Amino acid sequence: MGIPLRQAVRVGGYVLKQHLTGRKRYPLVLMLEPLFRCNLACAGCGKIDYPDEILNQRLSYDECMQAIDECGAPVVSIAGGEPLLHRELPQIVRGFLERKKFVILCTNALLLGKKIDQYEPHPDFTWSIHLDGDKPMHDKSVCLAGTYEKAVEAIRLAKARGFRVSINCTLFSDSNPEKVAAFFDDMKAMDLDAITVSPGYAYERAPDQEHFLSRERTRKLFRGIFARGRGGKAWPFNQSALFLDFLAGNQTYHCTPWGNPTRNVFGWQRPCYLLGEGYAKSFKELMAETDWDAYGTGNYEKCADCMVHSGYEATAVVDAVKHPLKALGVALRGVKTDGEMAPEINLDKQRPAQYVFSRHVEEAMERIDTAAE
Ligand code: SF4
Repeated sequence: MGIPLRQAVRVGGYVLKQHLTGRKRYPLVLMLEPLFRCNLACAGCGKIDYPDEILNQRLSYDECMQAIDECGAPVVSIAGGEPLLHRELPQIVRGFLERKKFVILCTNALLLGKKIDQYEPHPDFTWSIHLDGDKPMHDKSVCLAGTYEKAVEAIRLAKARGFRVSINCTLFSDSNPEKVAAFFDDMKAMDLDAITVSPGYAYERAPDQEHFLSRERTRKLFRGIFARGRGGKAWPFNQSALFLDFLAGNQTYHCTPWGNPTRNVFGWQRPCYLLGEGYAKSFKELMAETDWDAYGTGNYEKCADCMVHSGYEATAVVDAVKHPLKALGVALRGVKTDGEMAPEINLDKQRPAQYVFSRHVEEAMERIDTAAE
């Protein structure tokens, strides 16, 4: 079990409170992208394809605190870009911890050795090291040889310093279930605290469009992986049992895009972490003025193959709170890896994709130019 008990209890209590107060839509994890600049250029990344003027933008400490105060989510996941390039990041992490938030700091770990002294271990703070598989898999995924060794070195260093350490692993169509299972065994042997796993999302701007997974292949891949690890129980996933069950094709879920609202240098991203189809000035505006029914698998072409944790973990958590016995059964027995799969969502009525990326970039460039005058 990769989710600490204190986190499960506090987040479970938060979800229950939302239900008791009749709140229909609420956030679970704030996805914070305080910058887009990165020191890698991964083939499957759809986050760093911006002009330098935008890559040079940063969310300030005050903007980051305002984001968490506005949305009130119990967990913050700091991503990017590469967050360790942000000079105010140690202060930002401390600010979230002082607000009693669980903080997950996602990093490719290239700078971790240099920056680790700026952070202190805390039960609510977790390093989440980007590692997309064993050495050949990861170095191919990030398009830079030697990155796997650096990430493993960083994991050892952070563990030795007493930090909680997890990995975040994104899988693509060339992933082999046997190799992924062996990689998870290796990670567990390193005494890693947690593993987050997800299929990649087919970002329209990612340089490599060939290796994203369809839903059918995703479901088969995860069955193949979990079958080699006692239905997933062999590894310390920090994801709910029902989300893993969904990945293996045993649940028909609709996404919960507001569950992981995203704040970045453009504003509050609509509708979710994966799709940037417009930006709201405030969290309130995001929640009130987004046409949520226009998105999700079956509603929108760009959502057809999405099974990413940022869209579906919140669905699984809410399902677990509503159906605790079902969740407990999967947690105890492990994920089912054979037999019939749950029905898939019909795509016949989905609306066609819209391509709006260049409009956001133009608007942001105009704002930057006006501010510089
Ligand atoms: S399915 Fe949901 S989470 Fe996935 S891209 Fe579409 S709106 Fe976002």
